[in-house]
Amino acid sequence: GDSAGNLYNVVLMGGHGAGKSALASIFAGAPDTMDGDFEHCRTVTVDGESAIITLLDTWDPQDGGSWTQEQCLQAGDAYLIVYSITERESFERASELRIQLRRARQSEDLPIILVGNKCDLVRCREVSVNEGRACAVVFDCKFIETSAAMQHNVREMFDGIVRQLRLRRDTK
Ligand code: GDP
Ligand code: MG
Repeated sequence: GDSAGNLYNVVLMGGHGAGKSALASIFAGAPDTMDGDFEHCRTVTVDGESAIITLLDTWDPQDGGSWTQEQCLQAGDAYLIVYSITERESFERASELRIQLRRARQSEDLPIILVGNKCDLVRCREVSVNEGRACAVVFDCKFIETSAAMQHNVREMFDGIVRQLRLRRDTK
């Protein structure tokens, strides 16, 4: 963040297909996923206070963006680690990413939300809500389930990360 304390980079991490770009396009207010558009800057108002958020959808090497994963690990003031509740593998990947992030930013108390996306696909669920919640406890981060398809909890997720950024700002 900047010295005024209201300018933040939020990085989307997670396996390919988890729904990072779908969540990003909702943040950007765009109807569809925009291929090749990886950085979304917006002013958001949360609890009556504005913040300028740059949402970076730059993690996926398969998207062919110009960011390296190492740069993504360093660039974030906060992280959204996304998995799909329909894919256990992506849930396991999320845990690996949390470890990778902790290693890269050792002494920092980073705001992180573990995001179980695609919660609309109830009949394809492979990861329970309780497993997601328990994982977040172990990894000392927040947890939310979202559906980009139904736009369920997406606003809550972005508001949540802004609130966490402010909490840390205000206790410094
Ligand atoms: P990324 O690789 O993490 O950026 O994933 P995408 O955002 O490209 O999403 C991968 C696929 O999952 C696309 O076909 C999306 O339409 C779909 N998808 C993303 N989020 C959801 C969701 O919440 N529910 C459902 N049913 N499909 C989703
Ligand atoms: Mg993507």
